[in-house]
This record gives sequence, structure tokens and C-alpha cells, in this order.
Amino acid sequence: MGRVFNFSSGPAVLPQPVLEKVQSELLDWQGSGMSVMEMSHRGEDFTAIATRAEAALRRLLDIPDDYRVLFLQGGATAQFSMVPMNLLREGGSADFIDTGIWSRKAMAEAARYGRVRLAGGGERNGYARVPTPDELDFDPAALYVHYTPNETIGGVEFSYVPDSGSVPLVADMSSTILSRPLDVRRFGLIYAGAQKNIGPAGLTLVIVREDLLGEPATAATPTVFDYRVYADNASMYNTPPTFAWYIAGEVFEWIEREGGLKAMGERNHRKAAKLYALLDASDFYRSPVAVDSRSWMNATFTLADEALSAAFLEGAESSGLKNLKGHRSVGGMRASLYNAMPEAGVDALVEYMREFERVHG
Ligand code: PMP
Repeated sequence: MGRVFNFSSGPAVLPQPVLEKVQSELLDWQGSGMSVMEMSHRGEDFTAIATRAEAALRRLLDIPDDYRVLFLQGGATAQFSMVPMNLLREGGSADFIDTGIWSRKAMAEAARYGRVRLAGGGERNGYARVPTPDELDFDPAALYVHYTPNETIGGVEFSYVPDSGSVPLVADMSSTILSRPLDVRRFGLIYAGAQKNIGPAGLTLVIVREDLLGEPATAATPTVFDYRVYADNASMYNTPPTFAWYIAGEVFEWIEREGGLKAMGERNHRKAAKLYALLDASDFYRSPVAVDSRSWMNATFTLADEALSAAFLEGAESSGLKNLKGHRSVGGMRASLYNAMPEAGVDALVEYMREFERVHG
């Protein structure tokens, strides 16, 4: 059976060369006589794998020395709690930009630990666009500003980094990290679940500026949710997700071989532009998102005649174009176009959509 074009929002398509390398090393990693899955996380071999992965990520993102990279578990969802448990000190408050379902979840979780304040966005624009810089209203006394650069479900993405002044900016980059160049210095803390642009599910990446690694915000913060503990123990306070960490390292090196984040950005921009051009040129398909807020990673669209949706999805499936159904909370379609989705996948999708319109339009 051949491989399909998998447009899933995550867990998502991984680069084929990475899968092939992992397969070739599955039983015997580089002469060790064992699989990476079977290694002690504290042994020499895995330590080398872990160090090499972090070094590749640091090169890719040009991460400054005063930032720590943490390899955690719990998904981005755990970060919705871990961020306030570490940064939302008693009496303080955190600013949130609300651009959809994931920002709302992060905000609701933080509200369990302290005061949260809406600094922009919200439901009033129907989540069809991100706020403009002049619509943002930050509290200069906030402990941090949290936002979601790319809303995976709505397909709404910031094309700029908000200016939070001296207040640390915290970003849930789950579905946009590594999709293009990024200036890490603009952020206090970046987090991302791995299962889109990094690797398999089970690994969560945190990039955090050293000065934010103090005592946790509350004495009740569990050790396993204390950033400092991970930073002090090279992310090995307890057993890390070793196999996912190893694959992430392979993905980072694959990105480097492909030309790094600049090349990724150009390719991703081209991929998204092809799909949006088709949506804009047609009355048969619709994009619910404002032009300046359209996601490069998760393109959402609907059929003007919703009754055709089932046939659209069925035809796509049988053409090897999988997982185009939108999130159950919003409906419609969603094509996730992460780094590992080849341009040929987008070309095949566009061709299928043109043909479907020709037959049913
Ligand atoms: N934030 C964003 C932007 C996401 O896309 C997702 C997952 N789709 C999450 C958070 C939750 O991630 P996890 O399932 O890894 O906890």
C-alpha cells in the first residue's frame, strides 16, 4: 500500500526520509544493538541523541544562550497550566489575546491560578481574523502576555509578533513553530506540542528565557510542572519521551538539509498561496478567514453548498487525500499544510478541488 497525502491537523504527516531513517535504525541504533526505544535515557547513546537534537533546534531557530530548551510531556494542554503555575504569581495578572478555541482554553486554565485579562481579540469578530496591532491593549503591569500565533482549528494566524513591551510574551506555537524564520528574542516563553511540525505526539517543547526560571508561582506547583527542575536536570528529572525526542532530532536535521526555516517559509507560503488562490477564484468554495489572517499551516474552507460536503470528502479520500474534514466544533474543511506536506500534495488537492467543482458546480 502506498502513502497518501495526509492533511491531518495532528498527529500529522512526517517527512518520509525521517521515517525511513528511523525504520532503518529501529532494531539496532548505530551499532548499539538496541532500539532507541529500549535505551536508558541516562545512557551515553541517548544522551548523545538528546544533545544532538537540542543543538540542531538551536541552530535552526538561532536560540540565544540565555534561553533554555526543555523537552517535556503533557502536550500543549499541560502548558496551559504549567505556564501560570510558574509565572502567574499571587496578586499579579496575565494578559491574553483571544483568537479562538486554543487561546480560550489557555485562558480558562490560567484563570484557575490567578487573574486573567483580555488584551485583544475575542468572539465579537467571529474569530475570522486576528486583531490588528492597534486593537491590542496591554496592561504594562501584567506578568506576561499569552497568545496563540496560529489557531489550528479556526485557521487564523498572526502575520506579526505583538509588541508587549517589557512584559514577557508567551506563545502557544503548537501548529506554527518551525514553519518559517522566527526571532526567539521577541519571546519570554514559547511552547509547542510536537505532533505537527516537530515529530510524533508525546513530546512537548518549551523554549524559555532564563530570567523567567525562578521559583514557581505557587508553593503547590508539583515538581513535575516546575520549569526550573527541567532546566536544572537537562529535561531528565524523570523519564522523558525518548523515542519522540529522537525523532524530533531527525526532523530538525531534515529541516536543515532542506534549507532551514527560510526555505520552509518560502515553501509553506507557496503551498498556502496555491490553495487560497483557488478559494478566492471560486464561488463554489469559501474561505471564512480574513485575507491578512489566513493560516499557512491550517487552511479552512467550506463548500458554498454544504450538502456537497460528504461527497467532497468521500471523493478526496478515494483520491488519496486524507483527513480534510474540519474540526468537529466548526465543521467545513481543513487542509493542514505542515512542513512535511510536499508541494505535490497541495497540487493534488487543488486539482481534485477544481475537478470536483467542474463536476458539481
Ligand atoms: N494549542 C494548539 C494551538 C493546538 O493546535 C493544540 C492541538 N491541536 C493544542 C494546543 C493542544 O495540544 P495537545 O493535544 O498536545 O495538548
